Amino acid sequence: MAWSERQVAMLAEMGLRVWQPAGAEAPEPLAPAQTMSGAPAAASPTRAAAAPLAARPAPAVALQAEPGSRSVGVETMDWPALREAVAGCTACKLCSGRTQTVFGVGNPRAHWMIVGEAPGEQEDLQGEPFVGKSGQLLDNMLRALGLTRGEAAPEQQVYIANTVKCRPPGNRNPEPSELAQCEPFLIRQIELLRPRIILAMGRFAVQSLLRSTEPIGRLRGRVHRYQGVPLVVTYHPAYLLRNPEDKSRAWDDLCLAREALQPAS
Ligand code: URA
Repeated sequence: MAWSERQVAMLAEMGLRVWQPAGAEAPEPLAPAQTMSGAPAAASPTRAAAAPLAARPAPAVALQAEPGSRSVGVETMDWPALREAVAGCTACKLCSGRTQTVFGVGNPRAHWMIVGEAPGEQEDLQGEPFVGKSGQLLDNMLRALGLTRGEAAPEQQVYIANTVKCRPPGNRNPEPSELAQCEPFLIRQIELLRPRIILAMGRFAVQSLLRSTEPIGRLRGRVHRYQGVPLVVTYHPAYLLRNPEDKSRAWDDLCLAREALQPAS
């Protein structure tokens, strides 16, 4: 595949240089990944599909449910009912600090689904996931792959949701009980969307969807399954902003996701 000028510009925006020999059809897109001290140890990615995970295995982290008032019957809701249930949820203490809930964004027919962690300050104010600095990087990465959260054909569209729908105060990590309370919403979003590929960004998305506490560096580079849907693990954009030397690995993950995309049934 040859890179278009636009893609090259976008990759440059991600900090990736594309080497494209004159006349070559399939250029090497990336500089070799480097290891940085403190970064999770990442073996060179194997593109073989991993064994499918058992459907909804037992949590590797203790997810304790708290009493609260989340709507019942989430598992049968349609999109409008689900959105309303999220907006009115008071099941955990995060509801008291939020400006608004952050449901998700994108076309419900999108082939791609991205699962992040939790809304930050800007997301809480605007009611949309990934609109701050991490979101700008994410959008650039998506654009480089020809994808968008905006209007496009379903195969170019992404739907973006978080594991928790309310901003944790001071952007702290979501607590296990908060993740547990919010999880049915994410599960239902995935069921309604039926994406062809899921990109799990960061450790909370991975804990939620794969029930794994393994470091991202150990889980990325292969195709997992969530309820039969191919799932690729990658670094969270906020991590990439702090560790730009891992952007090339993230780009590999996006390319792997594109390869793993489930064909139409
Ligand atoms: N980080 C996330 O994981 N999600 C957002 O919506 C914003 C930042």
